[in-house]
Amino acid sequence: MSFEQERLAILQEAELETQAIRAGHHRTAEGEHSEPIFTTSSYVFDSAAAAAARFSGEEAGNVYSRYTNPTVKIFEERIAALEGAEQAVATSSGMAAILGACMALLQSGDHVICSRSVFGTTTVVFNRYLAKFGVEVTWVKATDYDQWQAAMGDKTRLLFLETPSNPLSEVVDIQRVADIAHSGDALLMVDNCFCTPALQRPLSLGADLVIHSATKYLDGQGRCLGGVVVGRSEELNEVLAYVRSCGPTMSPFNAWVFLKGLETLKLRMDAHSAAALDLAQWLVAQPGTEKVFYSGLEDHPQHALAKKQQSGFGGVLSFCVKGDKQSAWDFIDATRLLSITANLGDVKTTIVHPATTTHGRLSDEDKAIAGISDNLIRIAVGLESLIDIKKDLQRGFAAL
Ligand SMILES: *Cc1c(COP(=O)(O)O)cnc(C)c1O
Repeated sequence: MSFEQERLAILQEAELETQAIRAGHHRTAEGEHSEPIFTTSSYVFDSAAAAAARFSGEEAGNVYSRYTNPTVKIFEERIAALEGAEQAVATSSGMAAILGACMALLQSGDHVICSRSVFGTTTVVFNRYLAKFGVEVTWVKATDYDQWQAAMGDKTRLLFLETPSNPLSEVVDIQRVADIAHSGDALLMVDNCFCTPALQRPLSLGADLVIHSATKYLDGQGRCLGGVVVGRSEELNEVLAYVRSCGPTMSPFNAWVFLKGLETLKLRMDAHSAAALDLAQWLVAQPGTEKVFYSGLEDHPQHALAKKQQSGFGGVLSFCVKGDKQSAWDFIDATRLLSITANLGDVKTTIVHPATTTHGRLSDEDKAIAGISDNLIRIAVGLESLIDIKKDLQRGFAAL
């Protein structure tokens, strides 16, 4: 074995923190230490015959950056290593990852079961676009396993969930839903955006596919849009074929930013989780708080499951202030340090009113079913000092 082969074999067996820093980087002849950015749209060949061999797939290698790009490939190999997967395919955004996986793996007449507690735009993809092409969706309560089971049918090919959920931190038993999927002829796809592989590895719990919005914690500093689908080669080769032909490719610059983000993923996720737990406990003790939703709190209904399934509780929490919609708005408007934005997974703490932003498209009835009340506020806890975050939230409480 060459030195390089030995190095890569050692990385295959390495711990998550090590893989997050080193996996996927096959050094070039230049001997670079840091991962290079290959800003090239296409690649040259030694001869007409070599070009033909590459195009036919007879010979492996780069042809065009819509198909493969060396920097994007480092990101794909690294995230596959972190999720414990055979293969990953990077995409231009998290939504492109979800749509890409569905376009590659579903066809007209297929049936999908989806948790109601998923990212708002995910529901739009299923209801508005996949429905146009004859894919039928049944919506279920994420933690009601009888509903998942009852929705299974001959045509069911995909089950989709997100855990923990946004913004109420509901935790779904991945193994249990995977068993339901596999009792029929269906795959389980998990949106692992909130935990990342640093805190939760859905494939090891029986899921078949994982998708990410790399835009969030994988970047970690709010710079770039991107996504990725992770799983077995059998399905991922289909996803790759879709991305090659239809074009929602990740740019090499963005892939490089995500590689830099991944290097600190474990440190950040542990710090986000510790800060969120501290803040959740502090919020519980404030007289202006009505209720706090965070799976790290012992009275959370799925606390035991979260402890078993995740190695940390993540950085997102939500809470109801005493009062109504105006009280929640007054609270948010009184903050000065926190960013009023729907984004999350950033070193900067963000604050948002779900009922009128992220979940604003839901009807009043659907909001009630989802538990999105008018006095609910979501915080994605960043990495500033908790002293300053709490001081800013005090400004909010003072405005109630
Ligand atoms: C943001 C987000 C998405 C969509 O990702 P984009 O990169 O914005 O396209 C999907 N799922 C979850 C849970 C998200 O938070």
